[in-house]
Amino acid sequence: MKKYNFYAGPSILSPFAIGETAKAVENFAGTGLSILEISHRSKEFQAVIDEANALIKELLEVPEGYEVLFLGGGASLQFYMLPLNLLKNKASYIDTGTWAHNAIGQAKLVGNVEVVASSADKNYTYIPKDYKVAADSDYFHYTSNNTIYGTETLKTPEVGVPLCCDMSSDFMSHPVDVSKFDCIYAGAQKNVGPAGVTIVIVKKDILTKEGLPTMLDYQTHVKKGSMFNTPPCLPIFTCLQTLKWYKELGGLKVMEQRAIEKAAMLYDEIDRNRLFKGTVAVEDRSRMNVCFVMNDEYAELNDQFFEFAKGKGMVGIKGHRSVGGFRASLYNAMPKEGVEALVACMKEFEKTV
Ligand code: PLP
Repeated sequence: MKKYNFYAGPSILSPFAIGETAKAVENFAGTGLSILEISHRSKEFQAVIDEANALIKELLEVPEGYEVLFLGGGASLQFYMLPLNLLKNKASYIDTGTWAHNAIGQAKLVGNVEVVASSADKNYTYIPKDYKVAADSDYFHYTSNNTIYGTETLKTPEVGVPLCCDMSSDFMSHPVDVSKFDCIYAGAQKNVGPAGVTIVIVKKDILTKEGLPTMLDYQTHVKKGSMFNTPPCLPIFTCLQTLKWYKELGGLKVMEQRAIEKAAMLYDEIDRNRLFKGTVAVEDRSRMNVCFVMNDEYAELNDQFFEFAKGKGMVGIKGHRSVGGFRASLYNAMPKEGVEALVACMKEFEKTV
């Protein structure tokens, strides 16, 4: 039976990225060595990290003056590392979910943080719109896609100060104007590669703080081309394969179109099917993580639908414990046929009730 991977992360990767990685585990770049065992200082691996760097810049049209870094520690390390490097006077944050909340907690360890708005009052089912960011903020931090709750900010906020963004779960799913950001970071394990590497895009001229711990100082990694210490070689290799695949398919505008179509297909069925309902404000629905539950009168069918869907090859659709129900993650590598299969499964289950 064909399986469709709807996990929220680590999550689906393209057959191309997995195939190329499998080959490189056996024999990397004709060296007769595995990508798992070759030195990160070898010219063959240097070519990988250089090409990955260049492709991120090309696909996202990163302007001059920014550096792309490949770091360890997950997006969670960035919750602390980013304010440590960029917070001087005061930073503004918006609280739109668990990860945003965690980012705020870590920034508060560094300095003065103003939380401009929160949707915690309604279990993070919407994105607050009416808020003001103090003009003397060093930056405004937001989480573009709230992986757990299934909300997404698609329009880049216009708040009058530089932006910093946790783009972990919608990175590379649509074009963004990087020039509006001081820093973008994304754990790779949703839309780009396996767990183990975090991509950071940072504006170089804002890195002026001195005396930071070496590993936590962006300047260290800028100066050393992400090679101050041993980088996560295998995850970076797989990221490169994904980036090549994105380029081959036509880049981020194509990714965006695919994402729009896939999400519309699933939300249309959620809205049509009498058994299900969406969990978040319609205008804030995420294209990447589609959260839904059984309608109240069918709530007792929750586990039954889960088993039914599992039996049809749907993997990883159990909702996060903070939301319940179901969550289907539709990252770039999810083919349209995967969404069609899930929709067909929902229709078929409806007929049994
Ligand atoms: N930010 C977002 C939006 C996430 O979805 C996640 C994990 O799912 C994280 C941060 C934490 O990432 P990591 O586990 O790489 O630290």
